[in-house]
Amino acid sequence: MDNQITKPEDFFKFKIKDFAFRVEGADPGDFITYTESKCNGCGECVLVCTVNLWSMPKDAKKAKLSSKYKDVCMECAACYAVCDKDAIDFRYPNGGAGIIIKHG
Ligand code: SF4
Ligand code: SF4
Repeated sequence: MDNQITKPEDFFKFKIKDFAFRVEGADPGDFITYTESKCNGCGECVLVCTVNLWSMPKDAKKAKLSSKYKDVCMECAACYAVCDKDAIDFRYPNGGAGIIIKHG
């Protein structure tokens, strides 16, 4: 694939994996913590996560974070930013772990 972005519409030729890669074999730590008891079920975190790591089980009315988040999360902190109930806490992964943005 031609990796050049020369006009705005070029951006849509790419997927997230074209821009970022994950450091393999490094422990990122628990960089997202979720306190379910604070969640009011508003669903904002489900809406903003571009890699679908948050879900809202029908009957639970509480958000659920995927157990695979350490392998998939893009570290955008959007879920943390939109949660008005402080149910989500985010910090950057341990040094040397997490994702590296290629064209950032
Ligand atoms: S944004 Fe916060 S309060 Fe809303 S569903 Fe997600 S965790 Fe719950
Ligand atoms: S930090 Fe971004 S990619 Fe990771 S779970 Fe939150 S919204 Fe999704």
